[in-house]
Amino acid sequence: MEPWQIILQNSITTLDGLREHLDCDSNALLDVIANFPMRINPYFLKLIQHPGDPIWKQAVPDLAEIKDGICQKDPLDEENLSPVPNLVHKYPDRVLFLVSNKCAMYCRFCTRKRKVGTDKMIISPQTLNAGYDYLRQHPEIRDVLISGGDPLLLPDLEIASILKQLRSIPSIEVIRIGTRVPSVLPMRITAKLVAILKAHHPLYINTHFNHPNEITAESSLACTMLADAGIPVGCQTVLLQGINDDVQTLKKLFLGLLRIRVKPYYLFQADLTKGTNHFRTPTETGIAIMRQLYGHISGMAIPTYALDGPKGKGKIPLTPQYILEQGDTLVFENYKGEVCTYPEAGEGC
Ligand SMILES: *Cc1c(COP(=O)(O)O)cnc(C)c1O
Ligand code: SF4
Repeated sequence: MEPWQIILQNSITTLDGLREHLDCDSNALLDVIANFPMRINPYFLKLIQHPGDPIWKQAVPDLAEIKDGICQKDPLDEENLSPVPNLVHKYPDRVLFLVSNKCAMYCRFCTRKRKVGTDKMIISPQTLNAGYDYLRQHPEIRDVLISGGDPLLLPDLEIASILKQLRSIPSIEVIRIGTRVPSVLPMRITAKLVAILKAHHPLYINTHFNHPNEITAESSLACTMLADAGIPVGCQTVLLQGINDDVQTLKKLFLGLLRIRVKPYYLFQADLTKGTNHFRTPTETGIAIMRQLYGHISGMAIPTYALDGPKGKGKIPLTPQYILEQGDTLVFENYKGEVCTYPEAGEGC
């Protein structure tokens, strides 16, 4: 076994494990774990500084998960938007292709909580082949985002095989991998894995960091190895109540990511996923945070704050309103709140 597999094998997955390692009322959590799987690997466990801190809240089950009477199992309607199992075709030219049902850590706020890490999510050579067939029959698809679960939890050979299959389809221009491994199990980014990824360019990675405490020597090294292999690495962060829903935390996170050559790509408004209602923030909070970032830090460090529309309506940007009036002259506010004007084309200066 490789070192990362041994670390994973020592994860906390049971009540006994929780009791042994963390100071919490573990008995009350039996029902939660029965509904939604838990995996806290030793690397991520070490990042917890005290009970209830931002790392804890992402990883340790909470009773609120089974008291959520508001949200839905599949708020993005992914199952209905899948022409073949595990392949979501929602946009004209790109798809989401789920190739793994396991993660290095089960995030309590996961949008695919209904199935990730459970036997409800079946990935097999048959589902993979059905996906490749669909992609061959739909040459309008030029961008495939492989996700799961976490694709990088698969063995190297399986990853190589998936990438080779996708690369054999001429209409696919870009391959993207959605993975949380760089932040939750960075030692999975091995030289051998990087060599496999590098052989399938143009390949992009969308990783997922939520808090500055996830930027460590280990996660920095993982991202550096990917960047050195010419892989553009972007980050998808989820805006989470009590974890990162304030300017100082997000500013520190986004600037920290830039330093390790990761470009903040999306900041997601939390989806309406059953079991995650306690993580949701008002969109007003997110928009106010964005307003305090634009102009105040490098645009390079600023992601698009996006809402994934319920019922599969797609992502839309949630942007602070800078435009005050639109006519012959555009009247707008700048980042300092000063009112400014810009004469439209055809108007005098
Ligand atoms: C987010 C998403 C994509 C990728 O969207 P981008 O905005 O291009 O990053 C593709 N398919 C589905 C179903 C998605 O949810
Ligand atoms: S890594 Fe992604 S898919 Fe896996 S549990 Fe976390 S949010 Fe869900």
